[in-house]
Amino acid sequence: MIVDKLCKSDLHLHTNLSCCAPKTTAVESYLSLCEAEGVELLGVSNHLYDWGGVDRTLQIKHEIDKLRNQTDIQFLVGCEAEIFYGKELYLTCEMAHNFDYVLLAPSHIFNFRDRYRDFDLSTPDKARKIMIENFKVACKLDFGIPTGFAHPLYPICAPWQQEVLDGISDETLRECYTLAAENNKSIEIHACVYRNTVELDDEGLSPIYIKMLRVAKECGCKFHFGSDAHEPSMFIGSHAKLERAAERAGITRDDLWEIVK
Ligand SMILES: [Zn+2]
Ligand SMILES: [Zn+2]
Repeated sequence: MIVDKLCKSDLHLHTNLSCCAPKTTAVESYLSLCEAEGVELLGVSNHLYDWGGVDRTLQIKHEIDKLRNQTDIQFLVGCEAEIFYGKELYLTCEMAHNFDYVLLAPSHIFNFRDRYRDFDLSTPDKARKIMIENFKVACKLDFGIPTGFAHPLYPICAPWQQEVLDGISDETLRECYTLAAENNKSIEIHACVYRNTVELDDEGLSPIYIKMLRVAKECGCKFHFGSDAHEPSMFIGSHAKLERAAERAGITRDDLWEIVK
């Protein structure tokens, strides 16, 4: 029996239009790898780190236009927007309409720490509290285009990631994901499920992130996949792991976000 794969798309990719990606990474860098990965749809979502971010990120359209008649791969143009309540969003509804979708990033702990130094992140409890509050704020944002979360409730670059996660109660998880579902925000099945910044099991996957995905499904959330690759080496081999994480969380085709179905 041929089992149809779920993970045939990747909506969280960076290129050299993100300052944290190598200068050599272009959309084309990922193309030759798609067949082996089983990926048919690429979504590029570069960072919006300042008010020039939208114009910079939209340059990807020219790059994609040149590739369209060379490949059967489908493309979407997105962006990854910073969310720090009370701070700049670097994205307005008017600007958002240039994109096919937006991924909101409310858990960039590294930016809370390095860019906005007035957040108190001195303990895992404080970081968790800020991350959860920020997630709830993000749930209620409406840019008028399909909106998902990049690495929802995954404290990116926090030194004590497992501790932050272990302290989120089931009740809080349900509250967060119910809010996301009610506000049509897609949840990302993100590379964090296999990164060794948290405890991994024999399959090289994180039990706590899989549990969180399962709770999100129970709360009625939709899902998309994101390798968060900044270069080809982060793309290779990632989709089989994301697929397995989705399978273990009980996610099926019916649970996928409309734009990746
Ligand atoms: Zn991110
Ligand atoms: Zn990213």
